[in-house]
This record gives sequence, structure tokens and C-alpha cells, in this order.
Amino acid sequence: MVRIDAHVHAFAPEQVNRRAAIADSDATFAEMYESPNARLATPAEVVAAVEAASFDGAVTAGFAFSSPDEIACQNDALAILASDPRFVALATVNPSVSGWESMAESALDWAAGFGELRPWNQGWDPLGPRGHALCELAAAHGAVLLWHVSEQFGHEYPGKWGGITPVELWKLAVAHPWTQMVAAHQGGGLAWAAQMPEVRESLLSISFDTAATTLLYDQESVSRLIDAVGVERVLFGSDYPMLGIADQYAKTVKHLDTDTRSAVGGDNAKRLFFERFTS
Ligand SMILES: [Zn+2]
Repeated sequence: MVRIDAHVHAFAPEQVNRRAAIADSDATFAEMYESPNARLATPAEVVAAVEAASFDGAVTAGFAFSSPDEIACQNDALAILASDPRFVALATVNPSVSGWESMAESALDWAAGFGELRPWNQGWDPLGPRGHALCELAAAHGAVLLWHVSEQFGHEYPGKWGGITPVELWKLAVAHPWTQMVAAHQGGGLAWAAQMPEVRESLLSISFDTAATTLLYDQESVSRLIDAVGVERVLFGSDYPMLGIADQYAKTVKHLDTDTRSAVGGDNAKRLFFERFTS
């Protein structure tokens, strides 16, 4: 059984060392990572964690920095990780910055897509011209967009707000049916709307990951997600290093049968990210 974690995060080692200074200049980073208790992982630590969990690979994203310098620093580290065939990486991009499109296109030399996208934290409207341009760029290159979906319900947590809303993501999917997207955190409620036949039809380009499920949803939520959107479009993701890979996997797949575990725990991510982007 292939096991892939479709949602982990890494920072460049020098960014881990500069945590306090970065927090002074990036409000979203400060909200999520200023506390020394918030874990930051380097690419080497991601590799070690994947191996320790006996996983075959992972899809690694960075953080939606605003500063082009921090984006470049982080992307350099992710590019090195992506040279390991067990890993695909998603580049960080900020469509608010002029010249972002050429930076994004060059990142696709090593990246399978972009994410974890936090449009409102970076100051761009996902349904505005920059959001549409990003979707078109992704579709043109076969790149995948991983969105932080902000649930409009429930408890507060650092980093909850500033992603895309479920309604915005649905509208983008309607406008860009050829853009492959992943809705993080079970889509923040978007899966419920898949019970409306025309919405279900318009969400066929979207996969849903389980990142941070144990912090957000109840134990049966993954089974209901699978019922709502189809087993082939649910991806196990841990949100490492905030949560442990093996622990999240055990809890997330607990109620699933063997075939469903295979699909959710690795086969779906392999098809979406690895077979299309690695040789
Ligand atoms: Zn997220």
C-alpha cells in the first residue's frame, strides 16, 4: 500500500532561525508561528518525519509569505526537496507582487503547483483578476493549486482566516473547470454543497485533503466527506509539523476499509501529484 502525506509544510533552515525577525514583518506569519510552541520544520525534518512514519512520500508546501525575498528563500529550499523523487513541492507565490507571473512560471521547473494559498492574507481577491490569472496559469501548465479554505463556522485558531472561503472556491471552480485544485481542511464545508447536483458537477476538478482533521472535525467526518465527493477525490494530509504524520494517519483512516485506505492514504495523491509531475 502506497502511503503519501498530501499536506506538509517546510521552511528554509535560515527562516527557522529568523523566526522572530520574520514575525516582525509578516502579520500572518506572526499569528501562526511567532510562538516558539508552533513547530517549524526544515526540509530535512520533513524527510525524517516521512521516513519515521514509514510513508512513501509527501506533498510539501511552504507558507504564504508576502515578501518576495522570503518567498524566494523558501522556494529555494523546497526546490531542493523536490529533487528527491519521494517528494513533490508546491511553490509559494504572491499574486499581489508585480512580476509574480514570471516567478510562478519559473517555479514550475520544480514545483507541481502552488500553495498553500492564502489570498486574503496576501491582499488579493481570489475572484479578482489576479485569482483568475493564477487559475489560468495553473491550467496552462497542469499545475495544482492548494488552497487554505477558511471554514466560516466553528472555533478560532491561528491562521483560520485569510484563506479562500468555500463559496469563493466553488465560484473559481465553476470559472476554471480545467484547473486542478485541492481544498485543504476538508474544504471548510464546501463538501456539504456537493449534495446539490449542479454543485457536485462543478467541483469535479477539486480534491479535498484531510489536513488538521482531528483539530477541526469529528471522527466520522472523513467518511462523510468520502460519501459527499467520492473516494477518488479525498487525500490524506496531516498538516505536519503542526501534527504528527503517523498519529494523524491512524486517526484519519481508523474507520475506513482497506480499499478506501489505499485510495485516501496514497493512491489518489500519487495520481494527482506524482504520476503527472515526476518521471
Ligand atoms: Zn491550511
